[in-house]
Amino acid sequence: MAEKKAWVVDVGDEHQEVVFATCEGRARVLAGREAGADPREVTLRHEPRLDEYAPGPVPAEALLGLGWWLTCGWCEHHVTADGCDTCADDAEGEGGSAPEPVTEGASAWCSAGHRDADKEDRAERRQRESTARAAALARLPDAEVEWASATSDGGASVHLRVPGCRGPVTYEWPAGTCLVQLCDVHVLVALSARTALADWESEGGAQ
Ligand SMILES: [Zn+2]
Ligand SMILES: [Zn+2]
Repeated sequence: MAEKKAWVVDVGDEHQEVVFATCEGRARVLAGREAGADPREVTLRHEPRLDEYAPGPVPAEALLGLGWWLTCGWCEHHVTADGCDTCADDAEGEGGSAPEPVTEGASAWCSAGHRDADKEDRAERRQRESTARAAALARLPDAEVEWASATSDGGASVHLRVPGCRGPVTYEWPAGTCLVQLCDVHVLVALSARTALADWESEGGAQ
């Protein structure tokens, strides 16, 4: 089997990605599929210095070493091998020294502080999602959770399949509101005979 090579693909707005493929034609197809673009329109080049990381992902450290900038996983600042200019300026303003950039696998952060904050945020979101799942199932025990996601307002949405409902049902925590398609309202009302009807809201099946 031919060895996969690293191809650096332009994805617009000065952003680049790496795809691994045995030849340029395959790389074009892969990159085009990901970007929803015509493979012939894709701009790419072979980067031999990244071939050793096939089949990917490329460690963030290797990309920084080639002079790339990456986005901090926590604050979205630009991070280079020299660190983050924004955080360096902030530290200087406070009389401190510029923080060292940190990488783990394919991720990069401005500093160890931002890495730790990112991990804490992720753990907190997972905790919220599992609390919301439990609350949704306490309310609708026959439902099946498809997925849950923490929301930016400090709550979480739980996407459910409820037996008897044609459409999806979304349970919003901590409000306890259910968003349901109009055709399914009667099913949920029947399922929740013991809960106050004022808690339920319906959507006309839009989205
Ligand atoms: Zn950062
Ligand atoms: Zn920064």
